[in-house]
Amino acid sequence: MSELEGSAGTILLPSGLAAVSVPLMAFLSAGDHCLVVDSVYYPTRRFCDGTLSRLGVEVEYFDPHIGEGIAGLMRPETKVVFIEAPGSNTFEIMDVRAVSDAAHACGAVTMMDNTWATPLFFRPLDHGVDLSIHALTKYPGGHSDVMMGSVSANNATYGRLRDTQMQIGVNAAPDDTYLVLRGLKTMGIRLERHRDSALALAQWLEGREDVADVLHPALPSFPGHALWRRQFSGASGLFAFRLKGEARTAASFLDALRLFGLGYSWGGHESLAVPVDLSDRTIAKSSGDGALIRLQVGLEDVIDLKADLEAGFAAANTL
Ligand SMILES: *Cc1c(COP(=O)(O)O)cnc(C)c1O
Repeated sequence: MSELEGSAGTILLPSGLAAVSVPLMAFLSAGDHCLVVDSVYYPTRRFCDGTLSRLGVEVEYFDPHIGEGIAGLMRPETKVVFIEAPGSNTFEIMDVRAVSDAAHACGAVTMMDNTWATPLFFRPLDHGVDLSIHALTKYPGGHSDVMMGSVSANNATYGRLRDTQMQIGVNAAPDDTYLVLRGLKTMGIRLERHRDSALALAQWLEGREDVADVLHPALPSFPGHALWRRQFSGASGLFAFRLKGEARTAASFLDALRLFGLGYSWGGHESLAVPVDLSDRTIAKSSGDGALIRLQVGLEDVIDLKADLEAGFAAANTL
């Protein structure tokens, strides 16, 4: 992981969420201020609003499109800026270099959850980020049978990160590590397939009458597309789309799917679909009134996946 991320060192943890919470605990103390992107993975928000707040850290959420404007939110006590790109479920792309530079100008450490892109499609440390976080549970594991997380850090931050991990005592298990190492051997070719199949389905969905909107950074119609192109070298298999009209419900659509399973933890070989709940957002509320559905496009044949989604539309359209 250090080689892939271009980092000074990497720590392994028993879950992706532990790879979020341990670095936050390593670099934040009572009285500090922490800036977190509003489109962050929901369990990260829960940790920030729960444990971090209880420990006396003030957490403030910011617009994923803020760019260098983040300088206006920095305070002397701002110690961490936490980002995730694309945003969870709504896929906003941020200017990673602009945010990192503004954070560093005020002495804060930057952390990025890089799970969506994997280091094959984005390397945060090359864009000024100090710590790159992964849920290895997702593409690196790749088979939905292991949970693990990693944090890859630059020279300036690795010592404190590793020391905090040893103080707390959260380490990855050797058998899990073996599974992730095995998954990494095929991650390159799996991701090419996830990327190609997801984009093919996203383009197909975009042309449908019963779809209001497709949220996929590699589509030219996506608002963050230019920013994505400038920074990322590929897109993975996770994106979302919105059904047109309130009569088409997520439940009717999802119940008709057979190949797509219902499940949250993506990155494995099987396709998954879930309804998206954005009620935690304070700023980055995606606009539109139809049901938002997130797809993880797996390794199955695109023709079969399309047929499965057709059945979903048929069910949603008859209501
Ligand atoms: C899944 C996920 C996590 C958490 O990983 P777990 O191993 O399930 O704890 C963290 N961040 C992102 C973006 C994720 O998708």
